[in-house]
Amino acid sequence: MITSEDVLKVLATVQEPELHRDLVSLKMVNDIEVKTDKVKLKLTLTTPACPLRSKIEHDVKQAILSLEGIKSVELVTDAQVPSDGRARELLRLPIRNAIAVASGKGGVGKSTVAVNLAVTLAMKGARVGLLDADIYGPNIPTMMGVDHLPAPKEDRLTPAEAYGVKMMSIGFMVRPGQPLIWRGPMLHTAIRQFLADVEWGELDYLVIDLPPGTGDAQLSLMQSITLSGGVIVTMPQQVSLDDASRGLAMFNQMKVPVLGVIENMSYLEMPDGTHMDIFGQGGGETLAKSFKVPFLGSIPIDPDVRIGGDIGKPIVYSHPESKAAKALVEVTEKLAAQISIAAFAGAKDGS
Ligand code: ADP
Repeated sequence: MITSEDVLKVLATVQEPELHRDLVSLKMVNDIEVKTDKVKLKLTLTTPACPLRSKIEHDVKQAILSLEGIKSVELVTDAQVPSDGRARELLRLPIRNAIAVASGKGGVGKSTVAVNLAVTLAMKGARVGLLDADIYGPNIPTMMGVDHLPAPKEDRLTPAEAYGVKMMSIGFMVRPGQPLIWRGPMLHTAIRQFLADVEWGELDYLVIDLPPGTGDAQLSLMQSITLSGGVIVTMPQQVSLDDASRGLAMFNQMKVPVLGVIENMSYLEMPDGTHMDIFGQGGGETLAKSFKVPFLGSIPIDPDVRIGGDIGKPIVYSHPESKAAKALVEVTEKLAAQISIAAFAGAKDGS
């Protein structure tokens, strides 16, 4: 007669392919029930955006079916995002992971990527916040179709909410069209307020859209927030890559773990299915290799990405079947996996 212990024993031989640890020590196996020839259990992933969900489910089923007398396996899959366990907790913020999206220069699609990452994570069931810290061009409210904040409650700011994402922007703090001149200490205070005085609630992921570039403003922002890690968005052409490598150097200097490089506007798909490399080819991947950081993927040029930004309907929500949306979802899944890896590396017990 097979018991729950037998199931645990066999699952202790199954590895989580990204974290390179077994499922049992990662506490991913729960609620085991064995009824004669049938096993039921709950598989708790480290992110609802797990890129290898089907491989893990397959490996679990195979392992259990190898037990003598077991004929069927019923899996229920949920997710519990681990916290990176960093000092953010000092602000008493129940934010498990904070990820900065940066770029070496403006116009490469950093805000577009940040928005679509956040919306994808929320669509997959994660609790997500999006903080627009781009003081030079706070475009996220437009891209998310939101033009004002809800009324504050008991002296605390209430974030706006769209597509299941809680959102706060430096753009809400200034009148439209007004030039934004921020000095280091002001920025520091503003960002601390965004973290401490906003009712974020519990979040699995806070995505932070940094200003483009690698100057004082970026350094000051990164000093105000304890980050789990950062991603760099670049375009494929050399000038963009040179700027992006400065961005990577900035993360290294600030000891912020680099979660990966994303190449945007990589190619345009022609009606016959061939690709036109408008801005060159493969630069993002080469850059990632030379810095020994993960390459998270390439996103094609698609007018619907731009239209989605202009009308406040992110492409992953409005055209989920498009190549660009699929590429963005794939990039998000790879990033979510890197965040789990970083969280397990950073936190002692990963929970
Ligand atoms: P950044 O934040 O780097 O300054 P934005 O996200 O504001 O860049 O993007 C700049 C412009 O390029 C926007 O109009 C945006 O809609 C457009 N854009 C970004 N990525 C794509 C893409 N993959 N295809 C088409 N247009 C894009």
